[in-house]
Amino acid sequence: MTADCVFCEIVTGAARSRKVYEDAEVLAFHDVNPRAPVHVLVIPKRHIPTASDLTDTDVMLAGRLVLVAQKVAADLGVADSGYRLVNNCRAHAGQSVWHLHLHILGGRQMGWPPG
Ligand code: AMP
Repeated sequence: MTADCVFCEIVTGAARSRKVYEDAEVLAFHDVNPRAPVHVLVIPKRHIPTASDLTDTDVMLAGRLVLVAQKVAADLGVADSGYRLVNNCRAHAGQSVWHLHLHILGGRQMGWPPG
């Protein structure tokens, strides 16, 4: 856990969230400022700041994040219509919370390319 990390606070329960999935390593919860009808964040419980901080020892965890996203998308009814998985990595991507997360966005047509 890292001080001043809101997602670490969600992991410990110090901050509230609307959880949709939890296991020993991974947590998923609704984004507080949804950009689509379905907008869920999938995070590792362990504090990893960005996708660029993953290492070879995180291969299983990285795969788990994607598979949890797949499950949550199905559970929330957007698997067939489709959804977008987004990771904003560092400043130019607009990362605002520096605790690794995948956005699941679904429930509406997405544009491309993203801004
Ligand atoms: P990013 O800009 O890719 O780092 O995404 C961070 C996301 O976290 C944004 O979509 C925020 O709306 C979301 N967010 C920030 N604080 C919270 C919170 N306490 N609970 C749920 N989502 C949050």
